[in-house]
Amino acid sequence: MGSPAEEPVENVMSEDGTRNSPAENRGLPATNGHSGPDRHAVSSGAAASRQAANRIGLYVHVPFCVSRCAYCAFNSEPLAGRDPAPYVDGLILDAKIARERLSRDTVFDTMFIGGGTPTILPGRELARLFTGVRKNLAIAPDAEITVEANPNRADRDTFALLRELGANRISIGVQSFDNAVLEKSGRSHSADDAAAAVEAARQAGFKNLGLDLIRGLPGESPESFRAGLETALSLAPEHISIYDLSIEPGSAFHRRREELALPDEEALCEMDRITARLTAEKGFIRYEISNYCQPGRECRHNLNYWRNRPYLGLGAGAVSYLEGIRLTNTTAADLYLEKLGRGEWPLASFEIMPPRARTRETVVMGLRTAAGARLTPEIREMYGDVLGRLADRELVEMEADRLRLTALGFRFANRVMAELV
Ligand code: SF4
Repeated sequence: MGSPAEEPVENVMSEDGTRNSPAENRGLPATNGHSGPDRHAVSSGAAASRQAANRIGLYVHVPFCVSRCAYCAFNSEPLAGRDPAPYVDGLILDAKIARERLSRDTVFDTMFIGGGTPTILPGRELARLFTGVRKNLAIAPDAEITVEANPNRADRDTFALLRELGANRISIGVQSFDNAVLEKSGRSHSADDAAAAVEAARQAGFKNLGLDLIRGLPGESPESFRAGLETALSLAPEHISIYDLSIEPGSAFHRRREELALPDEEALCEMDRITARLTAEKGFIRYEISNYCQPGRECRHNLNYWRNRPYLGLGAGAVSYLEGIRLTNTTAADLYLEKLGRGEWPLASFEIMPPRARTRETVVMGLRTAAGARLTPEIREMYGDVLGRLADRELVEMEADRLRLTALGFRFANRVMAELV
């Protein structure tokens, strides 16, 4: 089984600011006093992509948490007494710099404040963040505005403030309802805290609420997973994300990976069957590999990613995808603020995605969803007989102009994707 020939993505600028010749060959404009492609580069793409860029997504990263979870490899750090106000100032400056580079008619129809733990910010900082972003960027009146919350920072007053500020969707990172599993995972909250967070969000008026769970944590069994999922479903969320545990380099779990009592493959398959049965019984639709929702309650922000559409990322380490250019902000919060303080666009790197790489990404991202990817003659040509072989193994199905994962393909999605990238 092979995969299509690799077409390298051009990494045109890295953290040290060096450029490689392909960027110059492509005539990438010189910077306007900032690092990275200037306004012209981002806002003067092909007319077709300009139109698509007018309504885009917005991600805002808050990299602070109460403590570090054992599986965490995200860009986050314990707040530990640090004043978050300068970081919020930085986010607002980041939004201002972005405004200067985006086409003037850009409207954001989703905004997702994630982290980290955004609800760790004091109320005044949350208010400044919303006001500062809205002052610089046009958030559509009907935008889906999601805030991630952690049960250890989820009181009714914070949720009420978020509603007042315009948030209309809350995503609570519960991960497990088994206190022993939570403790082994370094989570600083209990199952009861998670249920209380849901109650507080409902009391504050959130009618669109998602719960995040992790499947396959150390010490978890199919029975404890089923009990946890039943508890989650009894709280009647509109959306549930269930991610399989991944032991990521840089996490505490990775450092002690030899000692972890992880569920075996058969236990994971059983958890998969439990997930399918219980979610279906409650009327949930599996609309993406790891995401389930009540009809019409898909996360619009994440759908935007899976459809490979443009988005702007603000914050340390945040990624933007604008007119075929992927831009990554500097990861370390202090360096990110330092660059902003010098009036620079706080970029670590950017990549111009060649058309075939973009197409491939559209296929791989689209395949994550139940709707699948559009099967064009170009895609058939690009993958040759790879698609037919995946279909022979009942991992994908091709119907009219759609390419989709089968139920088996959803289970082994990583293997399918590995053959398509
Ligand atoms: S709450 Fe999320 S971002 Fe924060 S440490 Fe835990 S896993 Fe990482």
